[in-house]
Amino acid sequence: SRIFKIIVIGDSGVGKTCLTYRLWTGRFIEKTEATIGVDFREKVLEVEGERIKIQMWDTAGQERFRKSMVQHYYRNAHAIFFVYDVTDERSFQSLPVWIEECRRHSRGYDVPSVLVGNKCDLHGVSRVSADVARKFAEAHSMPFFETSAKSPQDGDNVEDILMMVAQRL
Ligand code: GDP
Repeated sequence: SRIFKIIVIGDSGVGKTCLTYRLWTGRFIEKTEATIGVDFREKVLEVEGERIKIQMWDTAGQERFRKSMVQHYYRNAHAIFFVYDVTDERSFQSLPVWIEECRRHSRGYDVPSVLVGNKCDLHGVSRVSADVARKFAEAHSMPFFETSAKSPQDGDNVEDILMMVAQRL
């Protein structure tokens, strides 16, 4: 089966580990250990009758990675999930830096990307405007989703997002 490598990127605390975990197990983990280095998971998806092996790499969080790590990460990446926390404006403001970093390391190759606003189960408080996020995504030619690793009823389904990405690969 074909192998696709997807990387999950965004500030520390936005829910990268939880999103990855939900994709793999369909469940939510409340407590997570800080990811150190590269956390790697693999899943086989059935897309239009074809078996596709997806490797997902969860990054180390807000630390700007060491050079060797970065190259290791972006080498042959087929798709990138850029994740922010809808209740954390700063995690949204960090996106240009992450995107810039990816572009720099993808050696001119345009890696298909998706913008994911996570934790959309959290209501009230301040929220990154979905309209603003959608415009940002359009400006970077990415599809945009709001989702929740915690509550599958809120927002777009994480598995559907992965399937959508896999279909485009
Ligand atoms: P990472 O550093 O990006 O990998 O973030 P984690 O996956 O470790 O999540 C950070 C914190 O956010 C944890 O306390 C999670 O329980 C919480 N969290 C992650 N996703 C969600 C979500 O969709 N909704 C809510 N309410 N909390 C979440």
